[in-house]
Amino acid sequence: MVGVSFINPLSTEGREKVREQGSLENLIHDNPELIDVITRDPNQKISEDNEIPRNYLELALKRLEWYIKKKNDREFKHTKYSFLSNPQIEKFDLISFYLLSQAIGVKFGPNSRESRLMVESQGSLMEHRLEELNHRDRRELILKALQELIRQETVKWIFFGDLLSSRKIQLTDLVLDQGDVILDRDEFIMRFGHRLEHRNPEKMYQLLIGEEVQQLILIRMVMQETENYISNVHEKARMMVEPNPILLELAERLTDILREPTTSYGYSGGGGGFSKSGPLHREAFPPCVKSALEGIKSGGRNDAIVLFMTPFLSYARLCPDIFRQNVTVRVSDKDPNLQIVHHEILPMIYEAARNCHPPLFEDQPQEKVNINAKMGFGMHTTLKLENEGETKWYTPMSCEKIKLHLPHLCRPDQHCKKIGNPLSYYGLKSYILRQEQPKLGARNDSTPGDHQENKQDSRANNKDGDS
Ligand code: SF4
Repeated sequence: MVGVSFINPLSTEGREKVREQGSLENLIHDNPELIDVITRDPNQKISEDNEIPRNYLELALKRLEWYIKKKNDREFKHTKYSFLSNPQIEKFDLISFYLLSQAIGVKFGPNSRESRLMVESQGSLMEHRLEELNHRDRRELILKALQELIRQETVKWIFFGDLLSSRKIQLTDLVLDQGDVILDRDEFIMRFGHRLEHRNPEKMYQLLIGEEVQQLILIRMVMQETENYISNVHEKARMMVEPNPILLELAERLTDILREPTTSYGYSGGGGGFSKSGPLHREAFPPCVKSALEGIKSGGRNDAIVLFMTPFLSYARLCPDIFRQNVTVRVSDKDPNLQIVHHEILPMIYEAARNCHPPLFEDQPQEKVNINAKMGFGMHTTLKLENEGETKWYTPMSCEKIKLHLPHLCRPDQHCKKIGNPLSYYGLKSYILRQEQPKLGARNDSTPGDHQENKQDSRANNKDGDS
């Protein structure tokens, strides 16, 4: 049976095992036992010796690299990281979890992108590890880990206050009875069995709660605990004179790993030098965007600026091929320090707002808050990294929706026939311009294949954006 600490490093079992480890000093030296576990794993496929993590520090980095590549690299192969789901790696993995969390707490703090990625990666790794187990082991492990975290027979919904306020779970994920959260099968049958007419209570339990909801709550609770742990480390570190140099070294190497997607997997946080996103080209904007940039003279100013221009300009600049990448992204994945947002995207949105008649913010300054919210930064007057995730980064409206809600903006030209979303138009026109002006070549372009895919992409053509 796999130990609880394999999925919850912050469990009592996990903390005890870490205490036994003692000093941090031998963590940077090659560990033959760790190397042996990895190389003997029958599922493991690593082509180069230098890709094998040889000590705790390298294992910690691999933990996060796995998540970043899984999220961003279209050619990601889990078999290269199979060791991460091998239970034999548990004792090493445990230490690497604490090392990473401490390095992030010391150097970056709880509101950083590094902290968010660590928390997300822990959730993703738990999910992956649980999936790899057989059904019986998975069920036992989930129950054991949950029992330790909840420790009460009945739990009021308020017990999950942190998870609800950080939106890790929603009330609709839970089955409630008089304020109590029902997770246990017997409890469900006792409370609801007699009320369910013509339905099998057992089947209803499996349908409404079952292992799925238990797993979701377990994962989200451990993610929250990870976040709290990083926060505690950060608070303690502020009182320290000198943080441990091993943690600082790890934090530095971590920065390199997080920077890598900006150069290797097709996106960038900087001003260029990558394959898909780059500085905005007004000449590639579709007629509707050009028209909105000149300002809305009639009605619909708010929707045009907040719901249409904000998602369009932010995605066109940071993630123009979002409809082809079947992933959820945040602005900070593409622009870690929000430099592009503050210096390129917001100024262009504000320009469009200023050109409205009357200028949008003159009589409705609160719309700045809504613009921040549509980029995922919650309802705040200032756009800050620490608020990211409070709302969703809206994807651009489809042409169909624009024609319905903002018909005066849609003045189709010949390229519009080939696309279903202004963002696809932007990709297509960028490509055409590149062909016409080879000197533009290195900038913001797609390949002909991309356009074929854009054309065929059902998300882009048929599905509305979030707006
Ligand atoms: S068809 Fe689509 S891209 Fe073209 S102008 Fe209309 S809304 Fe914009």
